[in-house]
Amino acid sequence: MNSIRQFAWGILLWELVSGMWLTLRYFFKPKVTLNYPYEKGPLSPRFRGEHALRRYPNGEERCIACKLCEAICPAQAITIESEERADGSRRTTRYDIDMTKCIYCGLCEEACPVDAIVEGPNFEFSTETREELFYDKEKLLANGERWESHLAQRLSDDAPYR
Ligand code: SF4
Ligand code: SF4
Repeated sequence: MNSIRQFAWGILLWELVSGMWLTLRYFFKPKVTLNYPYEKGPLSPRFRGEHALRRYPNGEERCIACKLCEAICPAQAITIESEERADGSRRTTRYDIDMTKCIYCGLCEEACPVDAIVEGPNFEFSTETREELFYDKEKLLANGERWESHLAQRLSDDAPYR
């Protein structure tokens, strides 16, 4: 009986010591957790977050209403209407993305010949209502203005690999 009790105590002591050793080992290692949202982890230039429509530096919209993004979108989340301007150029009169349908595949960005529609680094765009996730052209252009410096940097970082 005594030998069983000694054996049990031995196991308990071993568990205690090995647990403390494990704690000590990790105590001096760099922490692997982040104090989100005050700290944020690094993002790849290919991270596919919230969509944005970009402009050229002179303020002109990049989008030429070719509708390639609309055609390729597997979720049929994009709706575009367009018209010809007086100068003969074609621009969108409507550019909607239903973000409740979007699966963040990035195909719209891949298809765009002028880097107009992009998926930016923003992943903090949760909403309280479903309606707020129906993005229109105004919202997408506003996103582009807000994130342009990040978007341009990301495209330039990723360019050598394309
Ligand atoms: S990321 Fe994919 S699913 Fe979302 S709008 Fe673009 S093509 Fe459609
Ligand atoms: S965002 Fe790009 S792919 Fe889509 S319609 Fe405009 S130019 Fe064409």
